[in-house]
Amino acid sequence: VAAFAAPAPTAPLKVLKDVFGFENFRGLQEDVISALMAGEDALVLMPTGGGKSLCYQIPALCREGLGIVVSPLIALMDDQVAALKQLGVKAAALHSELELHERDQLWDDLRNRRLDLLYISPERLLSPGTLDFLRQHRPSLIAIDEAHCVSAWGHEFRPEYRALSCLSDAFPGVPRIALTATADPRTRDDIVASLAMPQARVFTASFHRPNLVLEARPKLSESRQLLEALERYRGEGAAIVYCGSRRRTERLAATLREKGQTALAFHAGLSALEKRAVLHRFRSGEPMTVVATIAFGMGIDRPDVRLVVHVDMPASPEAYYQQIGRAGRDGETAHTLLLYGGEDMARARYWLEQSQAPESEKRVMQGRLENMIALSETTGCRTEAILECFGEKLPENCGHCDNCRQPVPTFDGRVAAQKVLSAVYRTGERFGAVVVTNVLRGKKNEMIERHALDKLSVFGIGADHGENWWRTVIRQLIARGALKMHGDYGALGLDRTTARPLLQGQMPLPLREDVHSALRSKGFRAK
Ligand code: ADP
Ligand code: ZN
Repeated sequence: VAAFAAPAPTAPLKVLKDVFGFENFRGLQEDVISALMAGEDALVLMPTGGGKSLCYQIPALCREGLGIVVSPLIALMDDQVAALKQLGVKAAALHSELELHERDQLWDDLRNRRLDLLYISPERLLSPGTLDFLRQHRPSLIAIDEAHCVSAWGHEFRPEYRALSCLSDAFPGVPRIALTATADPRTRDDIVASLAMPQARVFTASFHRPNLVLEARPKLSESRQLLEALERYRGEGAAIVYCGSRRRTERLAATLREKGQTALAFHAGLSALEKRAVLHRFRSGEPMTVVATIAFGMGIDRPDVRLVVHVDMPASPEAYYQQIGRAGRDGETAHTLLLYGGEDMARARYWLEQSQAPESEKRVMQGRLENMIALSETTGCRTEAILECFGEKLPENCGHCDNCRQPVPTFDGRVAAQKVLSAVYRTGERFGAVVVTNVLRGKKNEMIERHALDKLSVFGIGADHGENWWRTVIRQLIARGALKMHGDYGALGLDRTTARPLLQGQMPLPLREDVHSALRSKGFRAK
């Protein structure tokens, strides 16, 4: 077909107004769309709610041919298709959960070129029949949504995404656009390499979300801290509580219900029907809390999520930021609370150490975990610290994170550190934080007496401070790498290299006084 015979392409701005009803492009949208209209490949990095969808929907409508959108989740596809249909766009989703008659209809529409946009799962797209068909029909563009799923180092890796590297050969000359809300440079490089799109123009929006209020607290009493946060911040909106395990989501949701909260658990172990029921209620807009694993994520676009709590530490700043990014999509203030503990940190390190992953991957994951640990312990502006992980520099402190609102008092922790490290050493590096704390405070119990720990010179050397105070010190020594977990039972040991200078008291050691002050300011007394 001669090029001059093609109808004049519709202008993107006209489609924006006529189809979507918006007056102006936002942020980088116009530049991205221009690149695709010119036939270039693009990688788009924008935070959740940044307006990624229009970046491919509009050029797909403006360019000749069918726009293909690869998406990892059926629920996500169905949502987008429903929204597009309401606007009068001819869109459909091809995935494994279609009824037979729906599938027949869809193929009929495809053959007769009645569709503008086709949402499709990666495995479906790459199945031979579909691939051959679509190749013959020369699509207008291929969008790869949630493109971080291609990265094995990412937190939402999907092996099916790997195979998408063949798209450049299968569809020569068809512009491709990869989109993600995951920002770190490593994932970005991985996407470009894995999708074989080295020529892609990279569009990076600011990840700063000024309406998110970041807060992190040492974990003292999980359910009490959680309830307090829910009461204070959730209002008539929704809250998401992220947990590290399926079992914990069930238990915590039950605890919340006992306290009169509307709370549902969500994790990958639920049946499709159960999952859909939770999503349905969550989307209905009723005030509620979903207690979930990271399986509750992509495609969660309720605008009025007022609070996101992590009761277990996320594996990386990227995962953390993407999860808290689900709060406040309506632009109103939303709160986030990270509850962190020393044992969690030590355990996360330990399991990573034990993991069978290739060395190179392990090192990347370890680096991220360390960043996450540093982020939770930071005494500086949290917003600044997390954006720095993505290579973005805030011109000044955010002014509203916990550390900005209430600067963290620190104290000279040298003597305290010497006492803790000696206690760990003298007790044979066989015990966890609870026993070490009891030894420091000189608290006798059956365990202490059975191991004759009360006969040691370190017994009671820390009687001048309470349990929570010592736990703070232990946690920070773990965070700094002086203490580490060894063995499956949570026993703490010394990291010789890091611990020695601390034991000798050679260098200054400012420690956070957080547990103390946090509790006192709320009228609680540390035991
Ligand atoms: P993302 O996929 O990046 O999370 P979406 O594409 O879902 O974000 O867009 C977030 C919200 O912003 C949607 O409600 C969308 O309709 C709206 N939006 C996107 N672009 C514009 C625009 N140019 N003008 C007004 N609203 C927009
Ligand atoms: Zn701040």
